[in-house]
Amino acid sequence: MILQRTLKGEIKLEGIGVHSGRTVRLTLRPAPPFHGIVFARTDLEGSPTLPANYKNIVNTQMATTLGVGGVTLSTVEHLLAALQGMEVDNAWIGVDGPEVPIMDGSSLVFCKAIERVGVESQLQPRPYLVLKRKVELKLSEKWAVAEPAQRLEIFGSIEWDHPSIGYQEYHYIEGRTPFQELASARTFGFLKEVESLRKLGLARGGSLDNAVILDHALVLNPEGLRCPDEFVKHKVLDALGDFKLAGHAIHAYVRLHRAGHDLHRMLIAEILKSTDNYEIVHSMDRQPIRNLVTAPLRPVAAGI
Ligand SMILES: [Zn+2]
Repeated sequence: MILQRTLKGEIKLEGIGVHSGRTVRLTLRPAPPFHGIVFARTDLEGSPTLPANYKNIVNTQMATTLGVGGVTLSTVEHLLAALQGMEVDNAWIGVDGPEVPIMDGSSLVFCKAIERVGVESQLQPRPYLVLKRKVELKLSEKWAVAEPAQRLEIFGSIEWDHPSIGYQEYHYIEGRTPFQELASARTFGFLKEVESLRKLGLARGGSLDNAVILDHALVLNPEGLRCPDEFVKHKVLDALGDFKLAGHAIHAYVRLHRAGHDLHRMLIAEILKSTDNYEIVHSMDRQPIRNLVTAPLRPVAAGI
């Protein structure tokens, strides 16, 4: 039986919000079984809560933003990815501002903090959202295909008409891929976009310290990339974080091409639209669905 997990103690972190440029303080605390991941805006009266659920997604441009009753919280995905990668089911997360701090643009700082405090098992089995049949979505040149599998696998691919990116692919297999491989992959953006975002009053806190920035040809960060496929790894990291918003750990093999937060949200909603697509299974009565897919499939093999 696989048990639910929570943090062993409290974590306190601070960093700047990528859009506001303001310092934001973050507090993570242990929470009881079946609590899930719940954010709270501690800067507002009564500390209103925002459960980490796809139904609470109100914006997917630039980042994943949750909103409940007019209260919003942006850029939740890298922290959620760290919780997913470290298998934390239950936590309370206080944030004293409108966005989760960007830290270095990856999940690394969150992962290290979780590692430092430790994670402990709780006396309740972890429920899984198990896909029963294929679910697919296409949105112009982007697509997503989810198929039944014994664990979560994400095969991500990107194709950018840019000399420093081009075509990249990466296959994450839960329990086999060391999460550290993904955790340090930073978000990226283009100089042109950063300039226009700044004109709109956004990306005030964005800098080479918290993103990989590219001009028309090159990576501008003096230290370069952390790994040659950092771009696609970050895309898979984003997907891991967004999938945490399904509310349950997912067992599915998901292939994503040129995907982003909008497609991730749509895929979760499409899967959860009908119980013909999925079932909620407790690990103790879990039956194997099929053999694990391990051979990477290139996008052309998707047939859509
Ligand atoms: Zn991201």
